[in-house]
Amino acid sequence: MANDPLLAALEAITALRSLETVEAALLKTIGEIYPQIDRLHLLTWHDGELIEYGALLDGQFAEHNGSPLHAEHPLYSLRHTLHYDPERKPGVYGEYYLYPLSRLDTLTPTHALLALRTTRLSGQARKVIGSLIRIVENFTELLREKNRDRLTGLFNRHQLEEGIHQLLNRRTPHTGGQYWLAMMDIDHFKQINDTLGHLFGDEVLLTVSQLMQGAFRNQDQLFRYGGEEFVVLLGGVDEDGALGALERFRSDVERYRFPQLDSVTLSIGYCQLLNQGSAATALGEADQALYQAKHRGRNQVFAYHQICATQTINPETGSIDLF
Ligand code: GH3
Ligand code: MG
Ligand code: MG
Repeated sequence: MANDPLLAALEAITALRSLETVEAALLKTIGEIYPQIDRLHLLTWHDGELIEYGALLDGQFAEHNGSPLHAEHPLYSLRHTLHYDPERKPGVYGEYYLYPLSRLDTLTPTHALLALRTTRLSGQARKVIGSLIRIVENFTELLREKNRDRLTGLFNRHQLEEGIHQLLNRRTPHTGGQYWLAMMDIDHFKQINDTLGHLFGDEVLLTVSQLMQGAFRNQDQLFRYGGEEFVVLLGGVDEDGALGALERFRSDVERYRFPQLDSVTLSIGYCQLLNQGSAATALGEADQALYQAKHRGRNQVFAYHQICATQTINPETGSIDLF
């Protein structure tokens, strides 16, 4: 173990392998090394508003439920004056010292802000904290790379469970937003491989992943689930918004002119992420909806709740039939 507390902390943080734990470890470290910091706030931008999602008060880090700053919050006056600065320069704001940073505990980096309140922190200490943040951010960037699929650059299956888990256990959504999980599967992909070859199939997968990145918003999380199967986690939209995005993607793929192919289509099944006990249950629901989309003729989007709505009891067998 390194003797210097800062080096020891870095050693411990860079041994972590989960984005969620890295963020809490960074904040605890800052609090431990600089006990003169009496307040530390983690803020993020959402729809132009600043939201607090974590705070370190008297050495205790607590996650917050992600509600917009209330009028008594010490940084309330920042909310309309401060916008994300792509230059990422730390700066002084009243009693606070502000560091722009990426949210470390999410799969996709989003803009955030670390605000430290202290009147007794030296310029040197501020610089050390700035460097510590950058080192940890570089480390989390590497962790994120490990979570990506080589061919498409999307997140891999390994990350999906963590992504779903994060949304299922999310602090209360601040804007009443809902979360959706969609599973998508290219139709008759085996035929493409069989007639044009596996390398050509890989090109199709790459193009579909690029269309996917164009169709969804930056904050939506995109995964390659398996061979020709993809998953998207959508947040902050109601069902019309989610369905609109999924239909847009489906139709973008249908209309895209792939060389040597008449058309490529895909089928999509989705469910709302609500109270499912596990990632596997949520994936199972989206998969059942996908199965229905395939069964009903492919090249379409189907919702899990439509299955529940169309279940009927077969009077002859007494079993539950669909349709
Ligand atoms: P459906 O419409 O029912 O989805 O039919 P399908 O042919 O798409 O489904 P099936 O599961 O029968 O075939 C999927 C194919 O995807 C079989 C497999 O060889 C191919 N595949 C899996 N991973 C890769 C990959 O990384 N690259 C390429 N080129 N093909 C892959
Ligand atoms: Mg498949
Ligand atoms: Mg398929």
